[in-house]
Amino acid sequence: MVGDGFRVHNFFPSDSRIGLDGMSPFFLLDYGSKWNVPPSDKPRGVGVHPHRGFETVTIAYHGKVAHHDSTGNSGVIGEGDVQWMTAGAGVLHKEYHEKEFSKKGGVMQMVQLWVNLPSKYKMTPSKYQAIENSMMGRHILDENGSFIEVVAGEYNGTKGPATTFSPVNLFNAKLKNGSQAEFHFGSNTNSGILVIDGEVRVNESKTVPQDNFVLFGQSGEKFTIEAVKESVVLILSGDPINEPIASYGPFVMNTQAEIKEAYDDFYNGKFGHLED
Ligand code: MN
Repeated sequence: MVGDGFRVHNFFPSDSRIGLDGMSPFFLLDYGSKWNVPPSDKPRGVGVHPHRGFETVTIAYHGKVAHHDSTGNSGVIGEGDVQWMTAGAGVLHKEYHEKEFSKKGGVMQMVQLWVNLPSKYKMTPSKYQAIENSMMGRHILDENGSFIEVVAGEYNGTKGPATTFSPVNLFNAKLKNGSQAEFHFGSNTNSGILVIDGEVRVNESKTVPQDNFVLFGQSGEKFTIEAVKESVVLILSGDPINEPIASYGPFVMNTQAEIKEAYDDFYNGKFGHLED
């Protein structure tokens, strides 16, 4: 559990086959598979905590997440929406189930990615990109109603709205039964897919059911996915940052001295203030 609101499975960095940099620039993938949340008058979630040195990308597939931060920003990540938060030099935030969702209860399914920042951008001012579903690029694949939703990067000429500090592709493939899509990421990229819903066949061989992550080769990759049921698949790829990583708790920096500095700044109130 992350707080009392997010039941997640960590695919990386905890898996030693990926570790700290096997999916760089992605540092962390927490996946909250479908979870039927009982109604509650007190929204479940995770209280005030800091971040520095990277970006958090929260994707709500089911359910709604409300957030507040120390710069005065707040909002709701609705179903199908993405919040791309650059923590950069530092921010305090809290993440809770949205009030009405919490009262009624319902299915929660979400992803949180941590995207590392190159050292020259680690202390960039914090900012938000609230990316509603309607803002995303939409590349139509066929007449069955299958498409690629582009959050960041580019798929066959269709661009995503997110701005990033290093090359990143983040897509949702929304495929009807029998539809397929091909992906080609250049040499020098890491890539992987997470099956959110349904079941897909990868490269006409391996069948991958819902809730599974597939790690591809780390020097570029060309692959096809074919839906054997109506499916939703998260696709991530990016260029590795190739810098030392020092991480502890909510901070991802380059050196242990920078981690210590982050804790000192946090305890000295330099991350601002946010009520619990
Ligand atoms: Mn957080």
